[in-house]
Amino acid sequence: MIIRNIWAIGRNYAEHAKELGNEIPSEPLIFLKAGSCAVMNSSEFSLPTWTTDIHHEVELALVFDDQLQIQKAAVALDITERTLQGKLKAKGSPWTLAKSFPQSCPISDFFPVKNLDELKSLDISLTVNGELRQKGNTSQMIFSLEQQIEYVRAHFPVCPGDVLLTGTPSGVGPVKRGDQLVAEISGKIRKNWKVT
Ligand code: MG
Repeated sequence: MIIRNIWAIGRNYAEHAKELGNEIPSEPLIFLKAGSCAVMNSSEFSLPTWTTDIHHEVELALVFDDQLQIQKAAVALDITERTLQGKLKAKGSPWTLAKSFPQSCPISDFFPVKNLDELKSLDISLTVNGELRQKGNTSQMIFSLEQQIEYVRAHFPVCPGDVLLTGTPSGVGPVKRGDQLVAEISGKIRKNWKVT
């Protein structure tokens, strides 16, 4: 299935909102990554050459099926250029330059989801070169999976195959070429990437 759009929520874990100096949102803050940012079926992804300030954000990713329901999920990285994002945020400008560059959304294999409830209390983590950087639990989300799904379906032209990134726990930080990343959603999926 082709991913036409990647809908992403910002600041959906309170600790992460705080670590970047942001307020806790009162309604979902949604931004887009182009579907062509996705990196599927690969154990590596490349960083852009025009910046050295790239951050990892590990996230639970949901996939919309033909009826725009969720029957599959994955672990994904919302790769972000942090310096530019800070400047754009300060000006009130769109984040596209900081969020939607080539290979900015590596996605693991999908795993089946029978009921969203089975995703609501899972540890999610990211290690970089063996060092634990991000660790959270999906129970810490500010907006529930149902609220996010309902919000994007109500406001945007969601298509079959689209991905919803559900936010990142605290601990975001730099990635550089040569790093080995391991993203995990406990009991569901574990994925390794080499950064090139
Ligand atoms: Mg994110």
